[in-house]
Amino acid sequence: MSNNILLSVKGLEIEIRTNKGSVFPVRDLSLSIKKGESVCLVGESGCGKSVTALSLPGLLPSPPFNIRRGEIVFEGTDLMDLTLGQLCNIRGKEMAMIFQEPMTALNPVFTIGDQISEAITTHVKLPKKQVRERIIELLNQVGMPVPEERITTYPHQLSGGLRQRAMIAMSLACQPKLLVADEPTTALDVTIQAQILELLNRLREQHNLSLLLITHNLGVVAQIAHRVLIMYAGKIVEEALVHDLFDNPLHPYTQGLLDSVPYGIPADAKRLTSIPGNVPALDSIPSGCAFQDRCPKAMDICRKIEPEDLRLENNRRVSCHLFR
Ligand code: SF4
Repeated sequence: MSNNILLSVKGLEIEIRTNKGSVFPVRDLSLSIKKGESVCLVGESGCGKSVTALSLPGLLPSPPFNIRRGEIVFEGTDLMDLTLGQLCNIRGKEMAMIFQEPMTALNPVFTIGDQISEAITTHVKLPKKQVRERIIELLNQVGMPVPEERITTYPHQLSGGLRQRAMIAMSLACQPKLLVADEPTTALDVTIQAQILELLNRLREQHNLSLLLITHNLGVVAQIAHRVLIMYAGKIVEEALVHDLFDNPLHPYTQGLLDSVPYGIPADAKRLTSIPGNVPALDSIPSGCAFQDRCPKAMDICRKIEPEDLRLENNRRVSCHLFR
């Protein structure tokens, strides 16, 4: 494994046990993230993106979730081999998460300062004065106005954008190496979205942070990603550097996603199309290619045999029978 790889996931399969049998929101998923790299995991709701994100720091509740097989290697250590105590030492310190809605992720009865303080002192013992200084420094880093005053505010006293900044400050408290951000801008309006993305990009550059950003928004991808992973029905169906993906999408699902978002100035804009149908329910994923019922290029073989990953030049991969 290259020394530059921070996180490597191989053959991950996650099961949910129900009283009608098992379903699989993540199926044979492999991905890697380099140090200082920004990777976007993209797909519609229900594709398994958030389950994948929560599995990395071991945050999936068991039951009902069960990691059936695979490995999650972070800095050379397979996290599946660790005890809960060892995992807790990595969470927040080496690998931190930012959630979609800070109002539900932050505790409403503690001040912003108290919550960031807890994130610091859980992992590092520091005198109170230094903790306060570190909180102010973190709030400054994320562009929180008047941090000396905000430290005593409660989440409900802040706007959505400031709450998200407070949560980012909390996630940076122990200078993690990997930040997993699950739809961090979805609940924000577009101007605040742009500010938060710019902030994440700046922090990544300043701290050589690796970023795994979960999103369904291709505009976000264009602004922040080095590399993109397209996920459908629990699998990565295409992987490419961001320019290659936008210039020449290979998988029919990626093409459908790109055709359904507006580009350019209105005079140049083409008619938008949508992908017919919906992501299959977990208990109705068809055998063969999971995208077959929505794919305009489906062939007989697609209904019989599940396509395998095909590795291409320039770190690309695609999983589709069209490329056999
Ligand atoms: Fe479409 Fe077949 Fe490719 Fe699946 S394998 S995306 S059904 S062409």
